[in-house]
Amino acid sequence: MNIPFNKPYMTGKELYFIAEAKFGNMLAGDGPFTKRCHNWLQQNTGSSKGLLTHSCTAALEMAALLLDISDGDEIIMPSYTFVSTANAFVLRGGVPVFVDVRHDTLNIDERLIEAAITERTKAIVPVHYAGVACEMDTILQIAQRHGIAVVEDAAQGVMARYKGRALGSIGNLGTYSFHETKNVISGEGGALLVNDPDLILRAEIIREKGTDRSRFFRGEVDKYTWQEVGSSFLPGELTAAFLWAQLEEADSITKARLALWHRYHEHLAPLEASGLIRRPVIPNDCEHNAHMYYILLAPGIDRCRVLDEVKREGVACVFHYIPLHSSPAGRRLGRVSGSLEVTDSHAERLIRLPLWLGMTEQELARVVEILGNAVRR
Ligand SMILES: *Cc1c(COP(=O)(O)O)cnc(C)c1O
Repeated sequence: MNIPFNKPYMTGKELYFIAEAKFGNMLAGDGPFTKRCHNWLQQNTGSSKGLLTHSCTAALEMAALLLDISDGDEIIMPSYTFVSTANAFVLRGGVPVFVDVRHDTLNIDERLIEAAITERTKAIVPVHYAGVACEMDTILQIAQRHGIAVVEDAAQGVMARYKGRALGSIGNLGTYSFHETKNVISGEGGALLVNDPDLILRAEIIREKGTDRSRFFRGEVDKYTWQEVGSSFLPGELTAAFLWAQLEEADSITKARLALWHRYHEHLAPLEASGLIRRPVIPNDCEHNAHMYYILLAPGIDRCRVLDEVKREGVACVFHYIPLHSSPAGRRLGRVSGSLEVTDSHAERLIRLPLWLGMTEQELARVVEILGNAVRR
């Protein structure tokens, strides 16, 4: 019995909606399915404007354009994140400034942010790792005090909340991913949440090749023209149709994932009690979305050996990010603020477990058993 790390979940209506889009002859972007998805984003996050993009990477690139990032501007972010968090700003000449993460959540350590701020700092990019929120109140206070923007990389945060507020809807801008490895999917896909109403008009322009095409279709201008630097950031209707089938079920998908997450959490309590692993920590203010179940091995346990052993038994457990500050591009293009010792130590000890809808209790118990055997050895 092989247990894969991920299996994309289908609600069953994806192909039906794609056929509907096709027979409606609406294949380019911003058709009826995109509108449904936009309404969903606004209703379910409270953001002033949700705009579909073809990826979370694209949404981050839009954020960098919207904030007018230029040569030498500094962007504060964790090193423990996906490359797109940094790349999007580097493309505009920005310099990522890497700050260490918290022991408990592996999110940016808000207590270290202020020391990283210089007169070149333009934005803070908190990344909500595993759909567990960063300490947003503190981060917003720091940003306000210094007059800098907050862009939430909420790629993993769809349906998760901080003090009741949807992740992605809290900073000036927020980004979601609908990549097939996330909770709610469209193959490739993403969204930009524009929470600062002053940025909405420019966001629409940047997303539509730098033109005021969106205003033209609303009848607000009588022709559309090139207004500023932009690109094509919107998905086609086939992608939006697929995504709509998923957004309709976002609630039940999240509940089912949470049920699996809690089963892991119960099953792995004894291993934590024996001091061999640490389980995820969810702070009180955070309602997470079960995007990921991970464990941290106790120092001294060889992760390579554990991963090899579980793989030999047919269970696909995987490690996660190579910290950006230690990557070739990160070293060349970014800079580090303070010590990144938590990032370095946690990144080397983290293992992600299979978690996908359709996983049975037996499969889950088998992952726990095989992992437990390998860790105890
Ligand atoms: C998945 C992910 C991204 C990139 O999302 P895409 O939709 O694949 O572009 C960016 N940041 C984080 C933290 C992610 O997990």
